[in-house]
Amino acid sequence: MKKLVSAGEILVEIMAERIGQSFLEPGPLLGPYPSGAPAIFIGQAAALGQPAGLIGAVGDDDFGRLNIERLRTLGADVSAIAVHTGHATGTAFVTYRADASRHFVFNIRNSAAGLIETNAAATKLLAGADHVHVMGSSLFSDRAIAVALSAIETVKAKGGTVSFDPNIRREIMQASGMRAALDQVLARADIFLPSGEELFLFSSAKDEKGAVDELLARGVSCIVLKKGAAGAAYHDRHGVIASSGFAVDEVDPTGAGDCFGAAFVSFWLRGTAPAEALRIANACGALAVTRKGPMEGIFPLETVEAFIATGKSAQ
Ligand code: ADP
Repeated sequence: MKKLVSAGEILVEIMAERIGQSFLEPGPLLGPYPSGAPAIFIGQAAALGQPAGLIGAVGDDDFGRLNIERLRTLGADVSAIAVHTGHATGTAFVTYRADASRHFVFNIRNSAAGLIETNAAATKLLAGADHVHVMGSSLFSDRAIAVALSAIETVKAKGGTVSFDPNIRREIMQASGMRAALDQVLARADIFLPSGEELFLFSSAKDEKGAVDELLARGVSCIVLKKGAAGAAYHDRHGVIASSGFAVDEVDPTGAGDCFGAAFVSFWLRGTAPAEALRIANACGALAVTRKGPMEGIFPLETVEAFIATGKSAQ
């Protein structure tokens, strides 16, 4: 089976317990939960049985151990996660507003996560990789951008493939060079997985069809639009395949897009038809939102298949 690799931030997430709670005053918190978009992605891919490994860095602390242990338990290759003394594992504190928006306080660049590098272990992992997945949030510093771009070049040079989820986080978009790096990654992507308005960051078109057509003309082989509870749509030069979401009670949206993407890319790598890959991805995204914590809704393939067999479609 093809091996996929991602590189980027490994964090713990600590969340406000109540919707509408603010960090401007003390309040009850939940966590730490293992997190970081590429870590969620790699954890979900591994849980589905795809060989998958992560390049990243944590501190020599309990937050780092929590992450490595979770990824290892899910079956991921953790050989390229460096453990640094003197820097704490990265953190993301999140509040949920009444309008359903999320707001983050990140410590990534100045945490152990910021020490990411293409070291010997990373080089070895990439030597065995067939596919690299890049999250926009992982382009948080010049150093992290260099790691992502070199992973892409290594894997592409041997005929491998690339997927890209912009995963835009307003709170880290200010990183210098990030905007240019997002465009560079998109130019090398075979699969593009935006959600919501992210599609329009990469196109001058005003409507979805115009933006999709423009990106396909620029050489992206396929575009998978994530549409929250409504499901997703797959576009390539042959047309569009829409797939409705599964009806679940959402308790925490964080991680849904990463779990969805991991499932879609894993099954795309296995040669599964897009309609079926979308269905499995929608199921993983739906299951992800049923648990508090970004990686708590990751389930193995048997559970996902059982959910698909009994789960209700949203339409
Ligand atoms: P992102 O997390 O990247 O912003 P979405 O919110 O679109 O992306 O979620 C990704 C996928 O997760 C969706 O395409 C869908 O399959 C699933 N999903 C997300 N929210 C829900 C929900 N409330 N109910 C069912 N499925 C959901």
